[in-house]
Amino acid sequence: MFRRLCAAVLVAVLTAFPATAAITIIPEKAAVMAATKADIPAAEELILHLELVTGCKVPLLTAGQVADGAFIFAVGTVPADAAPAVIGEAVWSVTPQKAYFYGDGAKGARNAVYDFLEDELGVRWLNRDGDIAYRSQNPLIINASSGRWQAAFRHFGIRGGKIWNIRQRMGAYNDPPKYGHAFTKLWQQYGATNPEFFALTRLGVRAPVAKPGQDPNDIAAFTGKAAEAIKICVSSTALYDHIIAQWQKTSKSRYVNICENDGNDGFCTCPGCTALDVNSELPADNVFSRHYTDRYMHMANEIAKAAVAIRPDARVATYAYNEYETPPRRVKLLPAVTIGIVPTVFDVESSLQLLQGWKQAGMTEFFWRPNQHYYFDGARMPFGLEKHFFELFQAIQVHQPTGFDYDAPGSNIYSEFSYYVLAKAMQEPDKPFEHWEQHFLQAYGAAAPAVGAYYRHWRGLWDAKFGPQLKDILVKGKVFNFARGVMWNLKDFYTEADFDATDAHLVEAAAQDLQPRERALVDKLRLANAHSRQIFLAVARPSDDNSLALLKFRREHGLEEFPHHEQYWGDITGVRRVEQFKEFTPPYLRTPLFWSFRLDPKDEGQAQQWFKTAPADFRKWDKMPTNSNWENPGRHYSYPSPETRALTANYDGIAWYATTVTVPTDWQNRDVLLYFGAVDESCWIYVNDKPAGEHLFRNRDDWTTPFTIPINDVIDWSKPEQTIIVRVEDKAGAGGIWKPVWLVSKAR
Ligand SMILES: [Zn+2]
Repeated sequence: MFRRLCAAVLVAVLTAFPATAAITIIPEKAAVMAATKADIPAAEELILHLELVTGCKVPLLTAGQVADGAFIFAVGTVPADAAPAVIGEAVWSVTPQKAYFYGDGAKGARNAVYDFLEDELGVRWLNRDGDIAYRSQNPLIINASSGRWQAAFRHFGIRGGKIWNIRQRMGAYNDPPKYGHAFTKLWQQYGATNPEFFALTRLGVRAPVAKPGQDPNDIAAFTGKAAEAIKICVSSTALYDHIIAQWQKTSKSRYVNICENDGNDGFCTCPGCTALDVNSELPADNVFSRHYTDRYMHMANEIAKAAVAIRPDARVATYAYNEYETPPRRVKLLPAVTIGIVPTVFDVESSLQLLQGWKQAGMTEFFWRPNQHYYFDGARMPFGLEKHFFELFQAIQVHQPTGFDYDAPGSNIYSEFSYYVLAKAMQEPDKPFEHWEQHFLQAYGAAAPAVGAYYRHWRGLWDAKFGPQLKDILVKGKVFNFARGVMWNLKDFYTEADFDATDAHLVEAAAQDLQPRERALVDKLRLANAHSRQIFLAVARPSDDNSLALLKFRREHGLEEFPHHEQYWGDITGVRRVEQFKEFTPPYLRTPLFWSFRLDPKDEGQAQQWFKTAPADFRKWDKMPTNSNWENPGRHYSYPSPETRALTANYDGIAWYATTVTVPTDWQNRDVLLYFGAVDESCWIYVNDKPAGEHLFRNRDDWTTPFTIPINDVIDWSKPEQTIIVRVEDKAGAGGIWKPVWLVSKAR
């Protein structure tokens, strides 16, 4: 209905404004006027962009201030003969004396300004960094006499872009569903008075989930995030009554929002809730450990019945998310339930399957709320994913969702293209990818063909590798983390030839006759591509030199040295390692993870000279990892033995570690040191049977502080291997060599 109305209005508008000859506007003889106070922001946007394009600042004037004969840009003024605006509509029209920008309220007028700036002045809002592209001209030559746009969805957006989002016309247009985690304040407000509202957790209380060591019964202690992640008792009819009463009392929306809070823990275990489940212990094909959809949809139906009884057009909005992402197995949805689908699948086939499943369960209305987009763009690597996400959007939008809400976007120069195309697709879903690709590339002026070829190269990589292996990559990356799945297997996806080829496109782009801002955009892309190559080399061909080169590159170009997002991969680029060892000369050699290990509960090793144990003998000892204290060696490790684990689980006292290392022969003229990440608490180090040094627990932080032991005096250069034996004493709490030991050197 909404769309048909839109088509009818379009015909009317086209008839009202027949095409005419070009109109010339002299900006020096023009003024901008705002019809109401609400139109001033749009008027200011117009002034800002007119100044970029013409170099002339057109003043914002009131009626009495405008000189006779001035050309007027009238923001918010509806021409006398115009048809009334419909919902979400934006219209602009230009006559020889006046340009009009108007539509559905101030938002309509503002969108009319944006439509005019893009279509007539070639303005492009490229990215959330604020890059603006445009064609310089003065005077202004306006070819079309009018333009019109109307929102195709009731709401749409990509979160987090502020002014860019406004310029891309995002927002709510018509009766948007009310949704979002609905019960974040419920505990704070009713925790003390209405325990029946809340989930009976696996810990046996109706309260947020206690952290280890926290008393689950001390319900007053739950505040902040723990309280905001509390789950509801989904079968609590008292809660249903409360939700309906609150909706009647406080909400202007016809939607009742019952989206459960965030978090994967604390779901209700009460008999009433579990009776609503269908095989909850058999989740669908994803990482969530339970399937709770049926209980949540039962609740949605119950609330829908109550709400519709009060108001016939009432609807209930609830998420399909994580433990309740996949469709219910028994419950059929009532028509008044709206589902906000939060997919963890990102290929077209699985997404449509998910949608289809919900439709089969009776879903009549939905919105698409993809999460975790930073998993796709959180790496500074070109994935060429813009067309894929466009096609995914198209596959969903033909099913007529109320709207789209893309959450958790990351940010880098490559993904900005993807978000640009998505933003445009949401504005005008009828246009093909290639249309928006050209729209975006126009910002590069004469370099557009070369930059287009650049992006096409990376899209080829998506088509050949990332796309076909998408599901597999999401599994490899764990919890659907695409970027991590790629980064952990980087050499399977990229070759250096990819960077050679793409650099060549950018060299060609830079060789064109460009305006300064176009050149700046090309330079930005060249920097990004060069950075990606450095990341590729550091990860795919790991060496201290490649990690140092990456760190140096970042420093030289003012890039983040240790980007926040890289923490999710481990230090695979090695930049943290080389920073840690910056005072030494590469390479930095890590000693074995597992060292021979022997407990010395009677403290007799010293008297018996265990520090002289030969490698052939200490290799018969048990083994212990040197990246955790001896109380908690990794459960998945084959060492130590179950017997040793039992003995060290709460062990305070003496233990011995032993290993061998090979010192490179070309280090003979260097200072050679053992670098201990941390030993808890005191230790005495022996090399080749001789004491080399000690690190005693004297200050409060000594158990966690790195230290070095020079070993030149005890190295036997005639031997291929040097023997390292460490006596560790732990008097309380955790103990042992719990951060790796390295062999490092300094050129003299
Ligand atoms: Zn319950």
